[in-house]
Amino acid sequence: MIYDVIVVGGGHNGLISASYLAKAGKSVLLIESSDHLGGASISYQAFPEHDVRLSRYSYLVSLLPNKIIKDLGIKFTTKSREISSYTPDFRDGKDCGLLVERNVGKLSEQSFNKLTGSDDEFLAWKKFYGEVESIAKVIAPTLLEPLPSVKNLKSKLGNDPLWNEICEQPIGQVVRERFTDDLVRGVVLTDALIGTFTSVDDLQANICFLYHLIGNGTGEWKVPVGGMGALAEELERVAISSGVKIIGNTKIDKVIPDVNGVEIESAAGNNYAGRDLIWAASPTALASALGSRKPKLRDGSQIKINMLLKKLPELKSGVDPKLAFAGTFHINERLSDLENAFNVAKQNILPDVIPAEVYCHSITDPSIVGKSGLHTLTLFALHTPAEIFENERAANTNLVTERILSGFNQCLVEPIETVLAENSDGSKCLEVKTPLDLEEEIFLPRGNIFHADLTMPFATDESMNGEWGAQSGTPHIYLGGAGAQRGGGVSGIPAHNAAMALLSKS
Ligand SMILES: Cc1cc2nc3c(=O)[nH]c(=O)nc-3n(C[C@H](O)[C@H](O)[C@H](O)COP(=O)(O)OP(=O)(O)OC[C@H]3O[C@@H](n4cnc5c(N)ncnc54)[C@H](O)[C@@H]3O)c2cc1C
Repeated sequence: MIYDVIVVGGGHNGLISASYLAKAGKSVLLIESSDHLGGASISYQAFPEHDVRLSRYSYLVSLLPNKIIKDLGIKFTTKSREISSYTPDFRDGKDCGLLVERNVGKLSEQSFNKLTGSDDEFLAWKKFYGEVESIAKVIAPTLLEPLPSVKNLKSKLGNDPLWNEICEQPIGQVVRERFTDDLVRGVVLTDALIGTFTSVDDLQANICFLYHLIGNGTGEWKVPVGGMGALAEELERVAISSGVKIIGNTKIDKVIPDVNGVEIESAAGNNYAGRDLIWAASPTALASALGSRKPKLRDGSQIKINMLLKKLPELKSGVDPKLAFAGTFHINERLSDLENAFNVAKQNILPDVIPAEVYCHSITDPSIVGKSGLHTLTLFALHTPAEIFENERAANTNLVTERILSGFNQCLVEPIETVLAENSDGSKCLEVKTPLDLEEEIFLPRGNIFHADLTMPFATDESMNGEWGAQSGTPHIYLGGAGAQRGGGVSGIPAHNAAMALLSKS
């Protein structure tokens, strides 16, 4: 049989593309290499003796547009976190910290004042994020449309010079000009580095920053109720009920395009034919299947640590752990820490001080821990590139874990190891994923969590104007996964756009 469309990759993007196309009346076959769907958006019972389903890889949602939820009738909810972030610090011989609410108010104002000794940084914060929101409100509605031009976006912003600050000037420089405190600067700039191995003075950091601030026009990161797997399971239901045929356990390693369509071949030698192909796995895997040159990309440079806790650890600063861990908890993420770690890591040396952030899902959504009485902690560390784990992998994985936990313990009354839940053999409930683990388990090239380096969410040259950002360079093949333009993150945006690009041509 020749399908109208074959979708390769059953992550959330593949499922969303397939559903849009099936709902538009196309015959759609989706092929996934694993025995389950969801890709990097799954829940998993990582510790079999404890009935807790952790979001194993991705864990927060901001970029998924409400329009996609509505269009496809997706039954999936997210919850706001009351606290945006807490950052512990040690200043003037005392443990202290910075608490920022989601809607910055009195508590945040007092916290900035107590930490920095004046209201200046608080006022700078409010001004900066108020301005960034105005860019988010202009860009967000264009994400499900053909790529807008820079001219068009600038004019919608009233030619505000803010455009240059966010899109053209290194974000590190902008933040140094707007804020004076090393810790406050670092808290702002971590959004420019999550999943991106770069200096804050490289424009790649601006791109990462934008993606973290534009979701649904607010940039709010919300907790997926039931964990990330709840999204994947619901998307599977939507795809099947829309008429998508799904085949699992089938890795595609050859793609043969011709003038009439595309033939693909699995590693086991099975062939499938389609008039069009949506590739929702990485562009690196597509290049290899086409036998063409692999695109250049940065190493993935993050460690994900999933933990189960008997109780939340007390903090030396005295702040209530339920407040501190409800939002993003920053560890060693002063601007100086971020740059020092990058400068060491880029020489393929593991930094002594590793920036990381932590968040507790179960405070906002206890449904994933059931009646276990446990808490979950998700830790995401930066500047630990894949290359470091190429040699002495086990020893380097142990070393990176030790250094990250030791950095965390600096601000805890009781070391994290003492509050970790245990298995019956006495082992601790903690799992570590290096970039190489991500490459092996879920095919992220070099562990790059976005499949490819992120690109600006608009046309950066005139030839792109009016394109959907899904073009692969080969007729009948569309990029619909994270590696497409405006891909990256749990968003469904590249999936929607690939489906629209295909439908608009047929
Ligand atoms: C540790 C981690 C934490 C993250 N945290 C967040 C977060 O909190 N919030 C957020 O928004 N984003 C986060 N991300 C990024 C986000 O998860 C990804 O960008 C997003 O899931 C990509 O979705 P996708 O559907 O395009 O690809 P994937 O989820 O990678 O799915 C691709 C699918 O294609 C399959 N596949 C690959 N090759 C083949 C082949 N040759 N043949 C057949 N099938 C194939 C894979 O098995 C996989 O199921 C995180 C990523 C990681 C790894």
